[in-house]
Amino acid sequence: MFPDIKINNEIEEILDKYPISIPQYYLSLIDKSDPNDPIRRMSVPSFSEMDLDGSFDTSGENDNTVIKGLQHKYSQTVLLLSTHCCAMYCRYCFRKRMVGATTDEIAIDLDKIFDYIRNHEEISNVLISGGDSFMLETDTIEKYLKNLSEIEHLDYIRFGTKVPVVFPDRIINDTQLLELLKKYCTKKQIYISTQFNHSNEITPQSIKAIKLLQQAGLIIKNQTVLLKGVNDNPEVLGALLKNLTKIGIVPYYIFQCRPVSGVKNQFQVPLLKGYEIVEKAKSLQNGNGKCLRFVMSNTKGKVEIIGKGSKDGEMIFKFHQAKNKENQGRIFTRLLSEKDCWVDD
Ligand code: SF4
Repeated sequence: MFPDIKINNEIEEILDKYPISIPQYYLSLIDKSDPNDPIRRMSVPSFSEMDLDGSFDTSGENDNTVIKGLQHKYSQTVLLLSTHCCAMYCRYCFRKRMVGATTDEIAIDLDKIFDYIRNHEEISNVLISGGDSFMLETDTIEKYLKNLSEIEHLDYIRFGTKVPVVFPDRIINDTQLLELLKKYCTKKQIYISTQFNHSNEITPQSIKAIKLLQQAGLIIKNQTVLLKGVNDNPEVLGALLKNLTKIGIVPYYIFQCRPVSGVKNQFQVPLLKGYEIVEKAKSLQNGNGKCLRFVMSNTKGKVEIIGKGSKDGEMIFKFHQAKNKENQGRIFTRLLSEKDCWVDD
């Protein structure tokens, strides 16, 4: 157990609801003399998690579920909830309602799911997520790859995993997994969507795991969540983006933190401030670091935060991906206060 955490009734109440898991490696990255250490903030529970302001399903995941464990929100993409387990339970997780807690939403009938994908030719890619898909047994990962790589209309397969960031030994020490990924990369392109949020996570071990995945033929892309007290500073965010492109990872999204219960008031950065931070961080990058988008995933789709309008507090948004086709590419504006952190109407 982390030395700063004293088990008392309050902490037990948090852990009953939202479990804790911090791999030894990730724990070692914390500067124990710094109470505001960013790795600590992302991994160690806080009493603020008992603040229920917000929602447990901020992007309509329940409505998008077509078979238990399979979501179909955008016509070309399906999302699979393959497990409820993660190596590290991020305190800001938007699936806090289920990770480490319940298997109620997890895919069970894989044959039915593979049939659904086979029968929907508009689907061109599958995101195997969770929980953390690299926490699945290697044999289970093979089952996904074998079945999905045989579906002609899929262009590629993606794994959503933070394992390279929080538990790189899972990759470094599993030659069977690396061989498997290499084999299936020749049949269908495999991508990894990972999530580095701070440069302190880029270490010799995490770089080694990334390099092994790249050598196996995988393309690694990064989604960062903008988090108060972690990376809400242009220099910190800029350094992260620069360090990612240095090791061959394309940072393609900065996500606005969602208004999740137990997360919202602890981690969200207001949109107007967030936009300034992302723009300044972008100005510190070369070409590859600049190609990212600042987005938020709400019930209507993936909305890009494009820039400021001519009026005070006016923000311009664009549907990068829309649930309803008629919204695709639509641009709209909202007048925001300094405190507004979300748009969902
Ligand atoms: S690894 Fe992903 S799913 Fe798991 S707790 Fe972190 S953000 Fe949530």
